[in-house]
Amino acid sequence: MKFINNVKKKCPVCQNEHNYQKLLENNSFGMRDLDTRPPGMMRNMMHLLVEKCPVCGYVSYDMNQPITSSTKSIMESAKYQEILHDDELNFAIKKFMLLGYLLENSDVKKAGITYLRSAWMADDAKKPQIAMKMRSKAIKFLELSLKTEEDENVSLIIVDLYRRIRMFDEAKEEAEYRLNNLGLPKYKKNILLYQIKLCQEHDDLDHTIPGNYDYTLERVDDDE
Ligand SMILES: [Zn+2]
Repeated sequence: MKFINNVKKKCPVCQNEHNYQKLLENNSFGMRDLDTRPPGMMRNMMHLLVEKCPVCGYVSYDMNQPITSSTKSIMESAKYQEILHDDELNFAIKKFMLLGYLLENSDVKKAGITYLRSAWMADDAKKPQIAMKMRSKAIKFLELSLKTEEDENVSLIIVDLYRRIRMFDEAKEEAEYRLNNLGLPKYKKNILLYQIKLCQEHDDLDHTIPGNYDYTLERVDDDE
């Protein structure tokens, strides 16, 4: 069975063509983590979600999508260039970090999810300081997104983000606040009760979702 396809795409910034690997079938059996991190192949190959031009350093979930009016100026910024040339970061962390930075002004929810993903890449690389920084950024942008659009899954992820950076009181308060939301389905209430228990135990590790329910974050990527 073929899992990866090569697709030739042209960079919308510098117009150079490059072959990008695309993940085809997602055979991710098993439980997702509490922050929706998928299991199986998707867990290990997630870095393929972000395409990075090897010539100019532009990153995107899909190179075929047009750039915004501010893309080029953000790419020229000192901050973008600093991340791009940071030798301490591996390619997977770097791709999600750059993309999060590009999305900050255009799509706060996507930026938050992208920073969450860069935290996963940092977890895998055993870079706890970077993971913590990325989770803090994810909280900031996901909380911003809730100001304009209510999303139960995003608020559940925020609870987990606070817990994973050891802000147990904040995680617990968020979880209790959400529990009082009458419209919440039972399995989500169970997730929040589980989070409160983990907070009381000062547990900052990754855990899978309790029970056999696989809740999936609504699609935030154009090409996922
Ligand atoms: Zn390019």
